[in-house]
Amino acid sequence: MKKEAKAKEEMQKKLSVLDPKFKAKIEKLFESMTEYMSIIYDLAISDEKTGLHNSKFFESVFEMEFEKAKRGQSNLCLFIIDLDFFKKINDTYGHVKGDEILRIIGSVLKKHIRKSDVAARFGGEEFIILLPETNLEKAKRLAQRLKNLVANNKILKRYRVTFSGGLAQYKKGDAKKSLKDRADKALYQAKNSGRNKTIAIK
Ligand code: GH3
Ligand code: MG
Ligand code: MG
Repeated sequence: MKKEAKAKEEMQKKLSVLDPKFKAKIEKLFESMTEYMSIIYDLAISDEKTGLHNSKFFESVFEMEFEKAKRGQSNLCLFIIDLDFFKKINDTYGHVKGDEILRIIGSVLKKHIRKSDVAARFGGEEFIILLPETNLEKAKRLAQRLKNLVANNKILKRYRVTFSGGLAQYKKGDAKKSLKDRADKALYQAKNSGRNKTIAIK
């Protein structure tokens, strides 16, 4: 029997000897504890400004998906996004507007990736998306779609928000670091060749 099921059975046994009113109270307490645990878990894995995942959560899923890719079980792409001239946006419109823009970017990313993808805020105005079971061609299409969504968002359009992106796909012999370095290098190239574009390195 699974550990959790066994613990539950033992708890039920202990509770069964109690006065029914007292038993009901304890059961209710357990229920709210479970709810709190789930809230605490969500807080622990989220970035509070954008509602995306935090880097800690990203790293742990990256580890797992990387191992799968290494065993040849799945394709894996990394997509790093950095907002263009965000300092200027802050300086011109203020930090509060900057925060609102980060929040909108977060919701655009969250809404348009698959359930199995993991989008996280990595630094101030930098995001990373883990794309399991995705090859570079599919990842490029996602990058283009996100670029259009940002360009056509009513609020983001008003502040001329754009991003540069770096894409890389797992290849044989990669370590997590070399894969991430390639995505970083691609981002650097996008920044240095005019911004508002995504570059992919095989
Ligand atoms: P580049 O196109 O080269 O990326 O230019 P940039 O201005 O985006 O890059 P830089 O690294 O010079 O500046 C990043 C800016 O992001 C600076 C900082 O004020 C802003 N920023 C970082 N975190 C936050 C945040 O949580 N909220 C707001 N409003 N701004 C932030
Ligand atoms: Mg940056
Ligand atoms: Mg930037």
